[in-house]
Parts: sequence; C-alpha cells; structure tokens
Amino acid sequence: MGNRAVVYQGPGRVEVRDTEYPGLEVKDGPGVNKANVGRRTPHGAILKTVASNICGSDQHMVRGRTTAPEGLVLGHEITGEVVEVGPDVEFVKTGDIVSVPFNIACGRCRNCKEGKTGVCLNVNPDRPGSAYGYVDMGGWVGGQAEYVMVPYADWNLLRFPDRDQALEKILDLAMLTDIFPTGYHGCVSAGVTTGSTVYIAGAGPVGLAAATSAFLLGAAVVIVGDLNEERLAQARSFGCETVDVSKGEPVAQVRQILRQELVDCAVDAVGFEARGHGRDSATEMPATVLNSLMEITRAGGGIGVPGLYVTGDPGGVDEAAKVGSLSLRLGLGWAKSHSFVTGQCPVMRYNHGLMMAILHDRVQIARNVGATPIGLDDAPRGYQEFDRGAARKYVLDPHGFIKR
Ligand code: NAD
Ligand code: ZN
Ligand code: ZN
Repeated sequence: MGNRAVVYQGPGRVEVRDTEYPGLEVKDGPGVNKANVGRRTPHGAILKTVASNICGSDQHMVRGRTTAPEGLVLGHEITGEVVEVGPDVEFVKTGDIVSVPFNIACGRCRNCKEGKTGVCLNVNPDRPGSAYGYVDMGGWVGGQAEYVMVPYADWNLLRFPDRDQALEKILDLAMLTDIFPTGYHGCVSAGVTTGSTVYIAGAGPVGLAAATSAFLLGAAVVIVGDLNEERLAQARSFGCETVDVSKGEPVAQVRQILRQELVDCAVDAVGFEARGHGRDSATEMPATVLNSLMEITRAGGGIGVPGLYVTGDPGGVDEAAKVGSLSLRLGLGWAKSHSFVTGQCPVMRYNHGLMMAILHDRVQIARNVGATPIGLDDAPRGYQEFDRGAARKYVLDPHGFIKR
C-alpha cells in the first residue's frame, strides 16, 4: 500500500508527494533524529486520516523561519480512523474514530506522569517535547497525509464515544488536536474565569480559539487585537470587541472599550513573527506583543503565551533574534507580579472536556475559527491563502470523510 503526504520543499513551497505507507517502526528520512531511527513502536496504531489541519506553527517552517529540512512531511493536527494496532495496544480498537494530541508523549516518564505531556522526556532525543511533522521534534512523520502512525496509542489517542455522532461534528472535533486546547490553555494559564476582562493578541486560528475559550470560561469582555481586518471581523462575528493594532498601541484602544485601563488577563496568540504597532506595523518586532501585554494587564494579572518562540530563527531581525533572544521589559512584568505561562499546550489535559462541550453543543469552535475543509491536493493553495491571512482554518480531508 502507498501513501500521499504534504511535503515541505523549501521556503514558500509545499507539494503533495507519494510517500511510504507507515509501519510500526521509525525509519530514516528528512528531519528524523538519527537516534530515533529503527525505534520499534508495537504500542502504536496506524490511522487513516479523517482530518488534518494546517497550523500557524507549520507556517513558521514553510516561511523558512526555522531549520526544517526539505523533504519533511508536515502535519501535527490529526484526527483519524484506526486501521491497525500494534501487538502492545490494549484498548484502542480498529474502527475507532480518534483525536491525536499534537504532542507526542510516552505516558511513562516523570513529566508525563505530572501531566506535562508537552515536554515528554522519552520521544525526542534532542530535547524534551515532540510533535508529528515538526522540525527538531524527533522526526515523527507528519499526518497531512492519507495514513499516519501514532506511537503509544492507548495513552495518546482520545476516542470519540460514537462514530456517527463524531462524523456529524467532525469539523468541530478536528480542532481538539491543537488549537482549541491551546487557546483554552492560554486562557486558563492567564487566569480567565467568570467576569474576567481579557485581551487576546492575534486573531489567527489560535487567537480565535482562545477568544472562544474565554467565553466558555465565563469572561465578561473579550478584546482581540490584530492588524488583519478580515480576521478582526471574524472575531466580532461571535461577540468579541476588536482593536486594530496598526492604528496604534492596543492599550489606548482597550481603555476606550473598557472605560478602564487594564485587563485582568492577556494571551499572546502571535509568537515571534509579531509585527510592531501603529507606524511600526509593517515591521517585524518580535518582543512587541509580550511587552504590550505587560503594559495592558493589571498588577497581579496573568499572561498566557501559546504564541511560539524559537531557539533558532534563520530569518530573525537581528543577531539576538536569530537565537531567540528578545528585548523584553521584564522589569515591568515583575513590578506588576505578572505570571507567564509558556510552552506547548499539554493537549491531553483539556481535550476530553472540550470534546464533551462540542458534543453537547456548548460551543461552536469550527464556525468561530472559520474551519474550511479542502482536499489533500489543495494543500498548497490552503498554505498560500492561510499565509496571506485568510480568516480560515484549513482542514485537509484526504478521504472525503467531511461533508462539504
Ligand atoms: P497565525 O499566523 O495564523 O496568526 C497570527 C496572527 O497574529 C496573524 O493574524 C497576525 O496578523 C497577527 N499579528 C501579528 N502581529 C501582531 C501584533 N503585534 N498584535 C496582534 N496580532 C498580531 O497563527 P495561528 O495558527 O493562529 O497560531 C498563532 C501562534 O500560536 C503561532 O506562533 C503558532 O506557532 C502558535 N501555536 C502554539 C501552540 C502551543 O502549543 N503553544 C499550538 C499551536 C500554535
Ligand atoms: Zn498546530
Ligand atoms: Zn513521557
């Protein structure tokens, strides 16, 4: 049997290529850590892809802003049907429809035992933390493909309770692999609760998922900032207030909306490719968002940072940015006793609860983020339109599982 997958071909280029059908062993290939080659995964399952989403995290690679090698198979936001299980898999069954947390975790190390599955110690020989189809993440083959292998299947997979019900709501459920838990984690770690006032930087899919999560957690006011008008309109479509950061510092606009100066909680859903504010909005200024969140958040407030910051960026604006050093005004955050929570979202902590909210119609995540199914062959177009800032979350549907 064969396979087809979306492959990174150098800055600005992705292609759909014939690749190998996955097996229960890690094989050598572009981006595969040598120490992982030959690793056997009898605890793994093979999935037929039901949905596989394009993410802003993929865009950092495709824009040439990481050290991702050409030939890397992309895709970490996978929903699938189990078609084969390894001999050590006990509970996951063939035919199950499952959501795959983008973090790969072993379930056996100290961090996994503490629920910190975003920094599992046993899946990536380079450093703690791993993901499918991602640079420096161990080399696990990506799932923007017809088929993909998931290790430690009993531990990693979230099984949907009913196949027909799952396929009925599949566009919403497809958001459980990453952006919905990630946006929710951003809000939880910023302390969002009943009556909170919240500022979310970025109206991309993660920002819109964070805004959706803020409402689910009971926020009184959710203000979303971006410089992309189409995305801000999408945020307004479900009750957010918006600020256009190209018109100036968000703090002044937040004051007008709230009739008070500062918010309780803030979320960075932008990351290291942040643009400046006001007249600087045509320029990349990687510390802008973090500095403005310290300004905008009240003393004692919390800041969630799901936006990605890297340890190496070949396209960094200066020598410091090339190694991930930013000019942060940490003194301000310290003086205000701010808490910061960074890092990969430990998806498993939230995906079951958010699944229940979807299945019982408590939340419309697919509508809010503009989830848009397209065929596998349309992936290059999806990447292009997403890169241009479309207010959409593209969901690849290689086997026609999703109603169009
Ligand atoms: P995206 O690129 O689609 O969205 C980013 C948005 O930020 C864009 O709309 C852009 O116009 C806007 N922006 C740029 N500068 C800004 C500024 N100064 N203020 C406000 N908005 C600004 O990406 P996405 O898919 O929404 O992902 C957002 C970030 O979250 C990325 O860095 C991604 O890698 C990261 N991410 C992290 C995790 C995690 O587990 N921590 C998971 C998924 C994604
Ligand atoms: Zn993602
Ligand atoms: Zn682990």
